[in-house]
Amino acid sequence: DIELAIKVVIVGNGGVGKSSMIQRYCKGIFTKDYKKTIGVDFLERQIEIDGEDVRIMLWDTAGQEEFDCITKAYYRGAQASVLVFSTTDRASFDAIKEWKRKVENECNEIPTVIVQNKIDLIEQAVVSADEVETLAKMLNCRLIRTSVKEDINVASVFRYLATKCHQL
Ligand code: GDP
Ligand code: MG
Repeated sequence: DIELAIKVVIVGNGGVGKSSMIQRYCKGIFTKDYKKTIGVDFLERQIEIDGEDVRIMLWDTAGQEEFDCITKAYYRGAQASVLVFSTTDRASFDAIKEWKRKVENECNEIPTVIVQNKIDLIEQAVVSADEVETLAKMLNCRLIRTSVKEDINVASVFRYLATKCHQL
């Protein structure tokens, strides 16, 4: 039986890989042209933390982030958040502070990870390792570098957050 169910919101600019990350983690697939399934608000996966079953519900957006109109309903009841930017998209990195502020506005202080996605494209990086680490420290968030494409570190993001929530 499930001891704990955690709603996790995943925010960041369009194109950074949020939907891909949810598909990867919950369905084990990666497709180049992911289209949101109409009517599906979230996908879930069950994992074990300290011998207890934890259900992780990952909430996706339908592209509203591009128009800055994510509704309050999206954030409601979230217990953890993921702030995603892309290694190859400078604007998405610059927007992380603002995403942190939005989550804080709606959810107060919840366990949060900053994800630098697309590290498989590190040769095309437009942010330095230093500035990423500095930002993570400043915002007091764990930093995890992922490649959804190569399936690197994706599970660690949610294991870390579930463990944090489990300890609260
Ligand atoms: P969203 O707008 O944040 O939901 O981003 P999507 O999940 O739709 O992904 C945008 C594009 O980035 C898609 O073409 C994905 O296939 C691609 N993508 C996602 N993650 C990665 C990754 O880790 N590496 C690479 N190279 N491409 C990725
Ligand atoms: Mg998406």
